[in-house]
Formats: sequence, C-alpha cells, structure tokens
Amino acid sequence: MLHSSILNMQAAPRALCERCERPPNVCLCSFLPATPFDTRFDIYCIQHPHEAKRKAISSIPLLRHSLAKFKLEITTQISTLPSLPLLLFPGPQARELTAKDLIPGRTLLVIDGTWKEAKKIVHMNASLLAQVPRVFISCEKESIYGTLRKEPMRGCVSTLEAVAEAISVMEEQCATQEYLLHAFHQMVHQQQQYVVLGQEQTRLHYDNLPKPIKKKEPIEEASQSRSEVVQVPREYVMYRMETSMQGQQEYIQVDHPFLCGYDEAINICKQRNKKRSRGERYGVLSYEKFIQKQSAAAIDN
Ligand SMILES: [Zn+2]
Repeated sequence: MLHSSILNMQAAPRALCERCERPPNVCLCSFLPATPFDTRFDIYCIQHPHEAKRKAISSIPLLRHSLAKFKLEITTQISTLPSLPLLLFPGPQARELTAKDLIPGRTLLVIDGTWKEAKKIVHMNASLLAQVPRVFISCEKESIYGTLRKEPMRGCVSTLEAVAEAISVMEEQCATQEYLLHAFHQMVHQQQQYVVLGQEQTRLHYDNLPKPIKKKEPIEEASQSRSEVVQVPREYVMYRMETSMQGQQEYIQVDHPFLCGYDEAINICKQRNKKRSRGERYGVLSYEKFIQKQSAAAIDN
C-alpha cells in the first residue's frame, strides 16, 4: 500500500496535513488522541530554527497535538522565561527529576534540536538560564528513533520521549507516556518503511538491468544510459550545507521531500539555484541518503 501511494505522488512539494503537519500519505492523525491530554504542568519548548525544517522526522508535531499545555517557540534567543521554569537539560548542575518538582504553576522548559543545536541554545541564553533549576531524566532505553536518527550517546532520546518520561515521573502515571510513545513508534515505523522501500527499489532496479558493456561509448550515449538507471521515482530532498566557525558541517533540509526521477530532481534543484550565489546553492540527494549524511555529520560534530 505504501509502495503504490509513493508512486502516485506528485513530483511537486506536497501539501501538509493541517492537523499533524505531515505529508498526507504519512498523516498521523489516526494516532492522535481525540482531545489533547491535559497535564498538571505547562511545557514550553524552544526549538532551534534548523530543527523546525526537519519536519519528516520531528517528534514535535505529535507533542503539539497530543498535549493541551504544550507551547512551542522557534528561536535561539529566549526572550522571557515562563512561570516557575524547570530546565530539562543534562549538565553538572542538573539533578534528577522527581515527582516533588510538580508544584502549581510549574513550566517544564525543553530544548529541541540536535544535541549540538540544543547545547548552543543553552549556551547563548546562559545568563537567563543561570537562575533556572536544571533537571535530567535517567533513560536506560535506546531512543525509538533507532537507526533513523542517531543520537550522540546512549541515554539521549527524542524530545517526545523526554517529555513523555517527565510526565510519567512528575505526575506518577504512565498512561499519557504510553500513548505518546505508541504514536511516536508508528511515526518512526512509517519513516523506516520509506528508507527500506527506497533501498529495495534501487536494488531491484539495478538487479534487473543488463550487465554494463565495458567498451568506450560516446559521452552522450553513456550519460543517457546512466540516467535511465536512476529515473525510478523516489523521494528526493534539497539541502544546504552550513559550516560553523569551528569548521563543523551540517546538512540542513530545505522544504519537504518530493518524489520524482533523478533527472527531474536535478532540474528542480537547478531551477531553485538560478538566483542563488555560489556559496548559497542547494544540493539534492535521495531522502534516504540525506538522512544518512545528516546523521553521520551530527556524529562527527
Ligand atoms: Zn494528519
């Protein structure tokens, strides 16, 4: 079913479901609660602007639509602190979160982004956050993301998993946590199917091709036969590279993935690059390859 829905998709960037903010074929609305869960504390999430672009694998849309008291702000500069803030972020000053942290008016402050981006936000707002008590949660399990998004170390989990764990600790109940984790599991499973499907399509296609003829061909003919190989529609994504002052590189997704053949993907990217100067041009990769590169870069950093 997933296979045919992928092939039927249009090459143009897809519209997102208004509720869950995901492409219609991977809409998660059926996994969302009919009415958002109420929590006994507020959750204020600071999301790094780069993370806001990684929609396909973000856990934030799920949180936003599952929790009534979840507030999101996309920024690197925190302007004002919410009431009775408690920062959920590891560090030497952090102590373990307990049920005693639940007091009336409490706001749990969470940072969403890659490990490096989250650290940057905490660093940039150090003076404001210095007065905020800091807590961590002990998570022995591996992140549900699995191979889809590599976490920098054991015990690092997605924002959704961290928030779900915080709810279960502070409210001393597991129902909300279990609901959130189940929905998140479905989302990750969908995404993994895409990755597997992409690999399978590539393998099948190459397996069915006649053995390449090892004689010199005119350049034009050679490039034509190569391009035929890669015209099987698959998900592509445009990206830009960003290099920090320390020389660390990051792959930043531009817009949503789109489905088409290789040549078309190259053309779409060329069109987008027409008015962009040399250092600002986008690249294009299969979505699967992009996720691999992004994860590898995050680990190297
Ligand atoms: Zn939806």
